[in-house]
Amino acid sequence: MDKEIKVRIAPSPTGLFHIGTARTALFNYLFAKKNKGKFILRIEDTDIERSKKEYQDDIIGNLKWLGLEWDGDFFKQSERIETYKKHIKKLLESGEAFWCDHTQEELEKERKEQIKRKEAPRHVCERRSKAKKGIIRFHCPEKTIVFNDLIRGELKFDTSLFGDISVAKDENTPLYNLAVVIDDADMEISHVIRGEDHISNTPKQILLMEALRFKTPQFAHLPLILGSDKSKLSKRHGAVSVNQYRKEGYLSEAINNFMALLGWNPGTEKEIFSLDELIKEFSLEKVHKGGAVFNLERLDWINSQHIRKMDLDKLTKKCQPYFKENNDFDYLKKIVSLEKKRIKKLSEIKELTQFFFTDKLDYDKNLLIWNPPKQVGEVKEMSLDDVKNNLVLLKEKLEKIEEFNQKSLESIIMPIAEEKGRGELLWPLRTALSGQRNSPSPFEIMDVLGKKRTLKRIKEAIKKADES
Ligand code: GLU
Repeated sequence: MDKEIKVRIAPSPTGLFHIGTARTALFNYLFAKKNKGKFILRIEDTDIERSKKEYQDDIIGNLKWLGLEWDGDFFKQSERIETYKKHIKKLLESGEAFWCDHTQEELEKERKEQIKRKEAPRHVCERRSKAKKGIIRFHCPEKTIVFNDLIRGELKFDTSLFGDISVAKDENTPLYNLAVVIDDADMEISHVIRGEDHISNTPKQILLMEALRFKTPQFAHLPLILGSDKSKLSKRHGAVSVNQYRKEGYLSEAINNFMALLGWNPGTEKEIFSLDELIKEFSLEKVHKGGAVFNLERLDWINSQHIRKMDLDKLTKKCQPYFKENNDFDYLKKIVSLEKKRIKKLSEIKELTQFFFTDKLDYDKNLLIWNPPKQVGEVKEMSLDDVKNNLVLLKEKLEKIEEFNQKSLESIIMPIAEEKGRGELLWPLRTALSGQRNSPSPFEIMDVLGKKRTLKRIKEAIKKADES
């Protein structure tokens, strides 16, 4: 029987959870779920100076928020020192690893000379320290390492270009390549799925696995995420932390959907996926080799689609933090239902709907004038007097309406609008109600505001139009 599928995400808590790491987490998660395997979380915090608890919390919080739950408890490298110590000792005893006390200056000098001679910069140590000074290196045997990357196919590396690989700071502190190798073996990782930027580490890790007699897992290197200028995505291109997108009001469903399409697609036209649909469709074979461009407009579009699809109660709850006041839930729900087709991210809802929360609207009276594109001889521009007359007419009609809902309002007002001109009647009405150039239709707004607040706003507008 085949070994159980087991994958991992191994973030270093040295910064906020990066969108690239989140994409790697997602692909690992999808692969695990698709194959009924396990998804492990391992916090790689051996770099004590740069690792911070707040970043670990951010990684964990955002993985949970995305719904990418790992199996079992998570691991922390800082809690596994005893295990690393054992293996470092073994490598030192066999002579495959040794202490190297070359100083930074010596190494730098060597590097510069190699570059000058057009050689690959590397350090092959010929002065092993008996005094256990410096760092621990693994003596790199000269050979060709070949492995079959599940995305990129067969890859070959000449190890003579590596030099002796630094593997530990001291007998207790492994460096990245060694810690990863020990952990992946201990945790019985079957597939290492990670970013392409780790490709050059893989042959080094295979060498260490061979030295430690570990079984090698399968490897799959995901394409880089690129900014709009096709260079590697970085802060220069905008937000790169999941947290930032979350704060701006992107839904976790949309982030997952968007990230899945960074370097993968199912080969159909379908673009909107739930997490369950992604699990069903996902396969490593369909992951692309070339870099994936991070396109914010696409994320916005995907987010708007997920906002439209979301259940109204759930969406309203998600919008609640963007409203300052302690509002009635049903009132918010009505507002959210009007705006859900118009927003690209939740944070936009606040500005778009301010007019529902204050009866004091601040707008220029000229905004009340319907100002269609001028067609010769056809529509004459309205004057403020026309605006006033139309609003007075509306006020009188609306005062008489008992059943104040969208449907009945439409059935009474629309025939008048046909007669007076839709723009001429409905534009001033809509502006009177919202004070904005863009908003939902006046019928939708009146339905939410109710009769009293509607009439108050129309009276205010009449007053405004009357000011000289
Ligand atoms: N800690 C490494 C990183 O965050 C993990 C790389 C790996 O998956 O081996 O990039």
